[in-house]
Amino acid sequence: MTSKDAVLDKADATTVPVAFIDLKAQQARIRDRIEARFQAILDHGAYINGPEVRELEDALCDFTGAPHALAVSNGTDALVIPMMALGIGAGDAVFIPAFTYNATANAVLMQGATPVFVDVCPKHFTMDPEHLESQIQAIKAAGKLTPKMIIPVDLFGIPCDYDAIFQVAKAHDLMVMADAAQSFGAKYDGKWAGNIAPITATSFFPAKPLGCYGDGGAIFFHDKAHRDLCESIRWHGTDDGRKLSVRVGLNGRLDSLQCAVVTEKLRIFPDELARRTEIAERYWDALKDVADPFAVPTKGQSGWGLFTLALDNRDAVQTRLKEAEIPTAIYYQTALHKMPAFVEYAPAGGLPVTERLADRVLSLPMHPYLTDAQVDRVIKAVLGRS
Ligand SMILES: *Cc1c(COP(=O)(O)O)cnc(C)c1O
Repeated sequence: MTSKDAVLDKADATTVPVAFIDLKAQQARIRDRIEARFQAILDHGAYINGPEVRELEDALCDFTGAPHALAVSNGTDALVIPMMALGIGAGDAVFIPAFTYNATANAVLMQGATPVFVDVCPKHFTMDPEHLESQIQAIKAAGKLTPKMIIPVDLFGIPCDYDAIFQVAKAHDLMVMADAAQSFGAKYDGKWAGNIAPITATSFFPAKPLGCYGDGGAIFFHDKAHRDLCESIRWHGTDDGRKLSVRVGLNGRLDSLQCAVVTEKLRIFPDELARRTEIAERYWDALKDVADPFAVPTKGQSGWGLFTLALDNRDAVQTRLKEAEIPTAIYYQTALHKMPAFVEYAPAGGLPVTERLADRVLSLPMHPYLTDAQVDRVIKAVLGRS
């Protein structure tokens, strides 16, 4: 390290504000390329369905290994469109974790289906396969709803325990659609998120690990027939000529400008993921003794969309970080089954692990442009040593 570096590093460690997610630093890196892409689109004028759409879908398939992908309007539509294609509706039970973003539950209810909340595993924060099994059995025993689908959510970027979930799905003949809105870049059993489950939904909301400059999302498929159905639904349920409505559909398209942004961000994504992983390791090495035991499933690698700890003294730590001008966030302060819109689906007896986590979790700054000095500043503040 030269003396100039040392001075910069010192300034960085004490004065440069820490961002929770730093889209500005990322933009500075790719700004020229994005501007060139926007100019090309302004020139060709195909704002909808331009060549950028297929280019992104191909790039997403190349990266994830998924055989088929569709770019769509947002992560919620990425969940809704496959449910429409698969005919999920009234009288159907769809099993979702209670510890997730509200969109997972909204997507189910928009189909007229019933969300059945499943508790999560305290160590992984994701759907507990044993509780999933017992919820399926309870729904079958009650005899009112038909179990149809499981939507595991890779919360914070951590892939679910897919082997166990697939086993339960197979035993009960249920479909699995992964909600990978937070886990682009995660891996399970050697497969990237997008290629783990038969159908996967993701979001390109700007704060997600791979984001655009607006709303966006994608659906990944193993089966081409599913892809083709969803492609029709994405364009108002029309046939190939787009003149005749052959099923109910919606406007689920992603425009050319957003597709170009995601394509450019995907080029630097491997590098960003490597840095996120380093940062997560640095955090965990320093903080494992103050947080609840936490692990990524044995066959998995997190995409580190967020870095979240469960802490005894969560509120005190958050206040301390705020005083040190370090931004934090709580995902999620309220379990879905406790929210007014979903409380009627709350399981009797509640969901103890989810409820406990809601009182304990705290997400620390996580983005690939954090310096080691900034990470250390966050660590010190969490430990109360700043
Ligand atoms: C963000 C998110 C969604 C919804 O994505 P949008 O693009 O905001 O519609 C769905 N599920 C989870 C788990 C999310 O985090």
